[in-house]
Amino acid sequence: MRKWIERNRQLGRADEELTGMRFVYGDTIYTLRKTDNGEFTVDADPGKVVIFRDERELDDELTCRICGASYSNKIDTIRCCMNGDE
Ligand SMILES: [Zn+2]
Repeated sequence: MRKWIERNRQLGRADEELTGMRFVYGDTIYTLRKTDNGEFTVDADPGKVVIFRDERELDDELTCRICGASYSNKIDTIRCCMNGDE
């Protein structure tokens, strides 16, 4: 999560834009929130999650959604930032 935040800050996204952003990992929804000391933290909301995808997202499957690296297959893409991130 930290990696994703760093990357988006580098891309010039304002903190206000990132606040309230939601992530789904497995069956848990995480919401990005800024703490009083200006750092980002995530609130976890476990539950049942179903994700519907549309065609526009298919282009994106070979790009890591966290760091933006490109791969030639889906598995490598999914594994990219899976380890060592929180
Ligand atoms: Zn990555």
